[in-house]
Amino acid sequence: MANAINTPAQPDRNCPLCPRLVDFRAQARALHPDWFNSPVPAFGDAKARLLIVGLAPGMQGANRTGRPFTGDYAGDLLYATLLEYGFAKGVYQARPDDGLKLVDCRIGNAVHCVPPQNKPMPIEINTCRQFLIARMAEMPKLQAIVALGRIAHDSTLKALGLRNAAAPFAHGAVHEAGRLRLYDTYHCSRYNTNTRVLTPEMFRNVFAKVRADLG
Ligand code: SF4
Repeated sequence: MANAINTPAQPDRNCPLCPRLVDFRAQARALHPDWFNSPVPAFGDAKARLLIVGLAPGMQGANRTGRPFTGDYAGDLLYATLLEYGFAKGVYQARPDDGLKLVDCRIGNAVHCVPPQNKPMPIEINTCRQFLIARMAEMPKLQAIVALGRIAHDSTLKALGLRNAAAPFAHGAVHEAGRLRLYDTYHCSRYNTNTRVLTPEMFRNVFAKVRADLG
């Protein structure tokens, strides 16, 4: 894994490293002072064996609530699937205080701050990777990573020090990465599910594979 010495797994709430996202964050804080509007921390225990890597917080979802995938459409499918395969317990109610617990599972993003139009720039993805690397480094039992979409896949590969040609993104693909397995899925976004690029069954099949492998 690439080195993350001296980088904490969670960026400071005023992380200054991406000027465009800092400006966007300031605008969001002015417009919605009661929203989270900061780099969104990972959800779940660092001792988990499974890490799910998303793209970036959604404006009305994690950026508002402060918990990954909580409060937007993508969270409905993600948390329903995690509950079905025993990676979560409780009831998902789209609020960070709904009591939902992750089980042997952690969720974080490749980019920690909300980007305009849900589209981080390559330099922002590259800059924020240090926190993804630090997050993986603080997970001693990590065995499986599910990458939600190509950007999460590519950034995770780079975090692991692997070349894209050796493990190209494809929905349903499983890549061996030393002691880790990387599972790819299309992102569970509203767009992908509305256009049937990703069906709930396709998404469930990925987590069924992870569950079968982890036992
Ligand atoms: S995206 Fe990551 S690196 Fe960029 S400002 Fe936010 S926390 Fe910092």
